[in-house]
Amino acid sequence: CGVFGVWAPGLDVARMTYFGLKALQHRGQESAGIAVGNGSTVLVRKDEGLVDQVFTDADLKAMPGKVACGHVRYGTSGGGGWEGAQPHLSTINDTIIALAHNGTLVNTDAMRRELINMGIPFRTHTDSEVAAKLIGYFTQETHRIREGIASTMAMLEGAYAMALVREDAIYAFRDPDGIRPLVLGELPGGKGWVVASETCALDIVGASYVRDVEPGEIIKISDDGLESQQEYRSAVPSPCIFEQVYFARPDSVMGGGTVYSARRRMGERLAREAPADADLVIGVPDSGLPPAEGFARASGLPFGEGLIKNRYVARTFIQPTQELREMGVRLKLNALKDVVAGKRLVLVDDSIVRGTTMAQIVRMLRDAGAAEVHVRINSPEVRWPCFYGIDTDTQDQLISANKSVDEIREFIGADSLAFLSVEGLLASVPPAPGHCCACFTGDYPVAIPEVFSRGSFL
Ligand code: 5GP
Ligand code: SF4
Ligand code: MG
Repeated sequence: CGVFGVWAPGLDVARMTYFGLKALQHRGQESAGIAVGNGSTVLVRKDEGLVDQVFTDADLKAMPGKVACGHVRYGTSGGGGWEGAQPHLSTINDTIIALAHNGTLVNTDAMRRELINMGIPFRTHTDSEVAAKLIGYFTQETHRIREGIASTMAMLEGAYAMALVREDAIYAFRDPDGIRPLVLGELPGGKGWVVASETCALDIVGASYVRDVEPGEIIKISDDGLESQQEYRSAVPSPCIFEQVYFARPDSVMGGGTVYSARRRMGERLAREAPADADLVIGVPDSGLPPAEGFARASGLPFGEGLIKNRYVARTFIQPTQELREMGVRLKLNALKDVVAGKRLVLVDDSIVRGTTMAQIVRMLRDAGAAEVHVRINSPEVRWPCFYGIDTDTQDQLISANKSVDEIREFIGADSLAFLSVEGLLASVPPAPGHCCACFTGDYPVAIPEVFSRGSFL
């Protein structure tokens, strides 16, 4: 998912949030929503669909305010529909707040039951709504939202990067392990503050990057200015390395460098770890292109465009059924016959999850006349499900959990296949004290859901 928030009295905060969400659209295409605090209350508009499908110009004009937050959803738990869209509104007594959440919480079931027993109504089964209602619950008497957030953070386990608005202030906070990203930016001329999942959303509204929201930090922005409190800190933060591989936009700055340059270094490293005897290096658009460029550069082979992407088709991964997913690849990609015909190709892509995408791309390239297809993947094998907000949560779907590299090579129909090593991946991203690499290593930095850790799943 993607989250965005802005505090800017006097500016069109709903429209700024709309632009911010458009820059974050790659992080989720299921639903979009904006909540505005107008000084006396909080209004939310949200629905299923892309940002452009949910908001008209008239909708934005009807939401004046001084503070706003927004969300684009990539559903990982609790169903869809209007109800599943965020921000989630919580009105308990006279505390009205709206919450936008990126990540997945792993321990909200029991809390949800308890809140229901206390008479607090729920509209969804999502983890995010539990967080919204918990904060509302803890705040109802004191009206001190920061304390409500702190009490809630003490109870939540899992991954969360959140933006919350009340009628006249915004709050941004991140789990102590810092698994999902969240950055702070400032508007020019002291006009206000912005928080967003990625820096590309700061750029679009003209805000400059100030710093990351720290793991375990709570930021409050109001008429009193920006206040920060370091509520919790884990020994070693664990930002998700998959953001660098696939999820984030290449023009975003993450960990001190652009995601683009990290992906190019992954390709360079991959060329050294697993060279191929070939004529041309191509990448699977979009996320395979920077590593393909790096692979070509390090191996001295030419880099070309062998696959063309239809820009008007959203990411295929979120299609609910396998059948639709297979349709999706053909809708999205086509081979450039005169580039690939007769060539021994190196084909670079970011990851193999189920393997169906790559099998179809290899077939497409062979149909277009490719002589050989050597597949190189700029991440290690995805063997473990992610419980922190990326939708790969059933292990039986992960081809690397069930097949050897040679069996996968055969399944996708490639002449050779290699994956980047974990060390190679870590060496390609800006140095950091730690990273979550759990989907590659099975080494989960924070608790995973009880049902899984009991072993009924693995
Ligand atoms: P699959 O192997 O499941 O058929 O497709 C993998 C491809 O789906 C990757 O190359 C990647 O570009 C795309 N993709 C879309 N969403 C995700 C995601 O959440 N995680 C991963 N690893 N890949 C994704
Ligand atoms: Fe990211 Fe993988 Fe960790 Fe999930 S398990 S947070 S995708 S590195
Ligand atoms: Mg891809």
